[in-house]
Amino acid sequence: MSKRYDLIVAGAGPAGSAAAWQAAQTGANVLILDKAEFPRDKPCGDGLTARAVSYLQKMGLSRELEKFHRVNGVLVHSPSDWELSFPRRPGMPDYGLVVRRPVLDTLLLRHAGAAGAEVRESAEVVAPLQDATGRVTGVKLKGGETISADAVIAADGSYSPIKRALNLDSEYNGYSAIAIRAEMAANRPDSDMLEIYLQLLFRGDQLPGYGWIFPMGGGRVNIGLGYINSYRNWQQINATSYLGEFLESLPADWELPSIEELKKSKEVRAWRLPMGFTAWPPWRPGVLFAGDALGAGKPVSGAGISKALESGMAAGECAIAALTNGGPDDFTNYEQRMQAAWGSEYRRGRMFHKLVGYPKVAAAGLRLLDNHTFRDRLLKSLYKKAQGPDHT
Ligand SMILES: Cc1cc2nc3c(=O)[nH]c(=O)nc-3n(C[C@H](O)[C@H](O)[C@H](O)COP(=O)(O)OP(=O)(O)OC[C@H]3O[C@@H](n4cnc5c(N)ncnc54)[C@H](O)[C@@H]3O)c2cc1C
Repeated sequence: MSKRYDLIVAGAGPAGSAAAWQAAQTGANVLILDKAEFPRDKPCGDGLTARAVSYLQKMGLSRELEKFHRVNGVLVHSPSDWELSFPRRPGMPDYGLVVRRPVLDTLLLRHAGAAGAEVRESAEVVAPLQDATGRVTGVKLKGGETISADAVIAADGSYSPIKRALNLDSEYNGYSAIAIRAEMAANRPDSDMLEIYLQLLFRGDQLPGYGWIFPMGGGRVNIGLGYINSYRNWQQINATSYLGEFLESLPADWELPSIEELKKSKEVRAWRLPMGFTAWPPWRPGVLFAGDALGAGKPVSGAGISKALESGMAAGECAIAALTNGGPDDFTNYEQRMQAAWGSEYRRGRMFHKLVGYPKVAAAGLRLLDNHTFRDRLLKSLYKKAQGPDHT
């Protein structure tokens, strides 16, 4: 008979590893599994916000973080150039980091293992197990093996096979960005600034999205772009060709590879990034959703790693607390936690995404942001808010 677990975490990205790490601290019997073998890549801009850095510090990884490339602010092109520093928040770093995902995700998974979680790689979940009431009681793996647990955390990413198999009705349907990126060498000095390009035009329409250049150190950069699917013609955009045009618009003396060269080396990869909650409530009997499987990406910026870490840790903690004090039928504690942390921000985010899907609104918003008097006022109020207790 196969072993039974208190908790199975399906998916070992930042959300899953944070959840498994957190739950294992309590002495619970935790299994974390992933279909991939690590180190594995995940299409990403590789940028860690100051808040993401703070969660990694909280997980006891401060020393490991010293090896990653540090960034001290954001250079925005709107199209005029201006700088944004990371706000100074009490007890928080005022810098970000850039790190390749194979490195970050392997570090996190090994950290969860060291905390006591049992790790299984090359273990693909094909379906959740359910009892007669529909409660999730474990997972079925490719090959037919079944594994039971009191609860399952679905941290299986934006295409979440568990969520799809459960055929969930979600109270909120946030939006998704389509994002594409490639890593490459660039003939320019290593920078300590993330760079964001807000003016993205498609057939004359201002897109709800942005392009980025994130410095990785060692002469390499991560370049990509993303746009939200509230723009009605989003399916007509060929993301790869569009990234090619973006690369061509950058200075020739950086000697960036062409999109054709990048395609040949399989460096270009697109992925979906759900934002503003796409599984709400964030649990069903026997199962909790975290990270991209929850649609946890931060509205507006799309920063998903810090949200994956935060929701993962919260899911790990709430799952064990609920199992200890009631059982697997009610994870309202997790719903309350997520609602209090992000509820109003994500509600505003869903409205924002809808609005900026209209090219005229997006263009007008960008014109405002390009006006330095308006921008200075906006930034002042955002910084003030970031320093207060009700931060985002
Ligand atoms: C192009 C792009 C650029 C981005 N740039 C940034 C950025 O710079 N900064 C930032 O903060 N965020 C960024 N994001 C968002 C960020 O990548 C995600 O929000 C983040 O990876 C979410 O973490 P996660 O753990 O929820 O999911 P994932 O990191 O996707 O991890 C899910 C895991 O589940 C596993 N899995 C999937 N299916 C199964 C299965 N059937 N069985 C077992 N395991 C399974 C996968 O192998 C994977 O390891 C970007 C996204 C994209 C697409």
